[in-house]
Amino acid sequence: MQDGSEPVEPSGGPSTSARRLTVLSGPSGVGKSTVVAEFRRAHPQVWLSVSVTTRKPRPGETDGVEYHFVDDDAFGRLVDDDELLEWAEFAGNRYGTPRGPVLERLAAGLPTLLEIDIQGARQVRASMPEALLVFLAPPSWEELEARLRGRGTEPEDVIRRRLEAGRVEMAAEKEFDVTLVNHSVRQVCGELISLFLSNSR
Ligand code: ADP
Ligand code: 5GP
Repeated sequence: MQDGSEPVEPSGGPSTSARRLTVLSGPSGVGKSTVVAEFRRAHPQVWLSVSVTTRKPRPGETDGVEYHFVDDDAFGRLVDDDELLEWAEFAGNRYGTPRGPVLERLAAGLPTLLEIDIQGARQVRASMPEALLVFLAPPSWEELEARLRGRGTEPEDVIRRRLEAGRVEMAAEKEFDVTLVNHSVRQVCGELISLFLSNSR
């Protein structure tokens, strides 16, 4: 763990500045993946970390694109081998960011984007205090619930779990550098791109 006054030295690697690291986080269903997909349409050259997860693929998801889909044992090995920059358990599944590709990008001075949950964002804050942490907020609680249900990708019990987590996640907003409210995908994506580009100089 860093105390914020020391140069960042991720374990197992050379000193790497996380100055160009932008982290997008926020409650499940707020629209993070949608906004990131729009971002990538506008700026296909921007590199986004592909996380590892034990969650089963949703229809339309492809291994290696949205996620690297792995089983519990494989995920456990990545944790044991310290291959993950951060990881968290969320609503019954585990998710983590492969360390190597992110550190390589940052070491080369290239802007880098992570889309992760709040627990992961906290870990990045602790190990890389200079990263820019962006909180994506819903216009209202009712709208968050409507989006999560409207997505239609989870059964009711999983939606409830995600909403329960969402109550706690909403309270974390103050830990972030910036809040963007996802009223419209196009508008919030433009705001995220501006922040990302100014953090990439
Ligand atoms: P997350 O990645 O944060 O879990 P998603 O990107 O999957 O959320 O979005 C959840 C649902 O909300 C999807 O059905 C998506 O199409 C919808 N959505 C995202 N942004 C908006 C928005 N600005 N207005 C209306 N619906 C949205
Ligand atoms: P979903 O199952 O809806 O794709 O993702 C559930 C939650 O896990 C979302 O909040 C998403 O941002 C988060 N998530 C995705 N990848 C990672 C990761 O690598 N690390 C962490 N901590 N959270 C992640």
